[in-house]
Amino acid sequence: MTEDLQRRIAYALYLENWSFENGSRAGLLKDAETVEPSDYSKDMKGHLFCPRCFTNLSRVPHDKDHSTSSMEAHFKHLPTYRHIGCMLRSTQGSGKKYSSIESVSQAIDNEELVIINSFMQDKPEQRVVGGARPFDEAQIEDVDGPESEVPLGQHDGQTFKVPSKITSLRGICRNFDKNYYRYYFLPGNQHAIALTMLLNDARKVTEEDDKPKLYFVKLQKSTHHGNPPGPTNIRMTFLEKSPHVIDFCIKTQHRLQNDHGIGDDTEGRYALVYSSVTSNGIGLCFKNLGWGEIALIPEKYNYLIEDVYNAAHS
Ligand SMILES: [Zn+2]
Repeated sequence: MTEDLQRRIAYALYLENWSFENGSRAGLLKDAETVEPSDYSKDMKGHLFCPRCFTNLSRVPHDKDHSTSSMEAHFKHLPTYRHIGCMLRSTQGSGKKYSSIESVSQAIDNEELVIINSFMQDKPEQRVVGGARPFDEAQIEDVDGPESEVPLGQHDGQTFKVPSKITSLRGICRNFDKNYYRYYFLPGNQHAIALTMLLNDARKVTEEDDKPKLYFVKLQKSTHHGNPPGPTNIRMTFLEKSPHVIDFCIKTQHRLQNDHGIGDDTEGRYALVYSSVTSNGIGLCFKNLGWGEIALIPEKYNYLIEDVYNAAHS
């Protein structure tokens, strides 16, 4: 991905009565509203913070009424905080390293860093709290995993033993804006990398790949192959793909994609998939997906994924 993308600040955190010097990061992440450059109003001045380093941001141009057509509105860091490192400010590598077990633990507690042990393979039991609730509300999206030894120290070979999560892409997609700049340590990786930099473009895939990776995809036509249609019949959902690939699809039992809202009506929507790439006839596919390895991105976050999507193509 491009450095331009890395530096672009897609949204700011807006919270009044919070400050970088005295505020709690967990509180900011929990309570702040996310604001795109185009949502800015003048009364937000002084209350906008970077989603990654949490220092103050300003919006350029400052005065909404005087935006010029020659410049697209955007957020920028303040020079005052130049000494605070931020991947959205500099061209520094996107891998995050930690100086001590305390700093890793704190990053996990603050939800700035997520250690993923694995993705859920089976659909979790639904929580039943106070009677019937909408499916979306009740779904368990991650559970505690075992303690994991992670190579996140600043010195070669230095590892830390920290708690991990067995998680789901559904959980990541639900609060996609908050998670977008969080650092994730994925199974088999050597670095904690911001989610925005972990997303691979399925349109760039031209061959099989044994190593599971995190992909973003744009859905096309989806077909249920069953007569009569049943939950265990195959559903194939085709994806936007490289011109060098005949076709590329998500191939699972109907019920898995159906559980995640993917089906006949999702053409044009975006989804995340964690998978290897295998052949499918003369094309490619994602298959053998666990329950947590696929999720539809809520449409309200299209502005974020389209940022990545458009940048990846330019
Ligand atoms: Zn920043």
